[in-house]
Amino acid sequence: MQTSFTLAQLADPDIAASEKILRACVHCGFCIATCPTYLLDGNELDSPRGRIYLIKDMLENDRPATAEVALHIDRCLSCLACMTTCPSGVHYMHLVDHARVHIEHTYRRPRGERLLRAMLAKLMPYPRRFQLALAAAILGKPFAPLAQAVGLKRLAAMLRLAPWRGPYRPLAPQIFPAAGPRIKGRVALLAGCVNDVLAPQINAAAIRVLTRSGVEVVVAEGAGCCGSLVHHIGRKEEALSQARANIDAWAALEGLDAIVITTSGCGTTVKDYGFMLRTDPAYAERAGKVAGLARDISEYLAALPLAADQSAPGLVVAYHAACSLQHGQRVTRQPKELLVKLGFQVKDVPDGHLCCGSAGTYNILQPDIARRLRERKVGTIEGLRPDVIAAGNIGCMTQIAAGTKLPAVHTVELIDWATGGPCPPALREHRSTMHPSAAAG
Ligand code: SF4
Ligand code: SF4
Repeated sequence: MQTSFTLAQLADPDIAASEKILRACVHCGFCIATCPTYLLDGNELDSPRGRIYLIKDMLENDRPATAEVALHIDRCLSCLACMTTCPSGVHYMHLVDHARVHIEHTYRRPRGERLLRAMLAKLMPYPRRFQLALAAAILGKPFAPLAQAVGLKRLAAMLRLAPWRGPYRPLAPQIFPAAGPRIKGRVALLAGCVNDVLAPQINAAAIRVLTRSGVEVVVAEGAGCCGSLVHHIGRKEEALSQARANIDAWAALEGLDAIVITTSGCGTTVKDYGFMLRTDPAYAERAGKVAGLARDISEYLAALPLAADQSAPGLVVAYHAACSLQHGQRVTRQPKELLVKLGFQVKDVPDGHLCCGSAGTYNILQPDIARRLRERKVGTIEGLRPDVIAAGNIGCMTQIAAGTKLPAVHTVELIDWATGGPCPPALREHRSTMHPSAAAG
């Protein structure tokens, strides 16, 4: 694609990066076929190519974002299916991230929207605040249908997504020693923010599998949210400051083989720290090192000699590939191969490249599109008649579980169970309801 940025514009490293991306696009339109928002409504402006044109026009002319640009960029899930499909290697993720920052700086959203976004940015990345918000959401949960009926769709979406049980305490900084006489590895675990408050069993399972395999696990003092929640709504400075805090925390640890991450949305962001902080002389080098050490839990476990415990159950697992894992990190084989190796029967979900509608805070900010994508996803999953759904991202688990009675668990919970850990809580509850006699397994 031809571009006409001036030399003065290209002196801005963000513009220079976006110009390179725009020039790679040959407007072939292959990406349109796999874009979930285009598939729903067939509007070219809600396709990757349409959005690329909007972003090009806005940046090239150095224009403030219009309501139309904000509408179509906001509807983008950042699922990155377009990047997997694109034959020209267009780095849509960096382009849309830049566009979101430009929108945040130049477009004044309606007051309610500004408040909601500020509230999400100030609550969700901070586990203590998020705990309080979840506790309040439990009280409001019965009023979700009322909120929906009076048009407060985003409030209704938040209340529906909140769990009925109380929030959990986040994992405290500590070291989990490796089992056995010989330490085979040392990793930092990103405890995360939302992940641990909503579903602490995920990191607990990861820690059990790792330590059982001879790997020491460190939860670093000072590490917190990876920055993706605010990054995806264009709040660049907040995202960078959260990234810097994590880099400081992990740089203080010695002898790390990897930084292991159980939420694939966070993993995609941590792996991008090198790019995000490329112009910060104080952090660029360390950011690149941290990004190079980041591994999804399934990537790290795939290199360990895991063996099924005697009790490994041969359940049918519908494997939902989180977009951030399959498109963002290109980790596709490892989770399924691990599950098969440990005795599960794994079924791929038809149209598995399509997003479930979770996408960070998307299911709150765009509840209608998110609901339609969830209904489609749940329909294809239920058609497989699985015993359990596995995913590598808490966002997907929460989003899908809100639309089905099937249990949705993290892949590492199944890996832990099959290698000697406890049955995942969601599966145990489901089994005790459906088959009381099987619940003990
Ligand atoms: S597939 Fe790639 S090159 Fe083709 S229009 Fe989409 S982004 Fe551009
Ligand atoms: S990131 Fe996903 S929703 Fe956004 S343009 Fe690409 S395919 Fe479409």
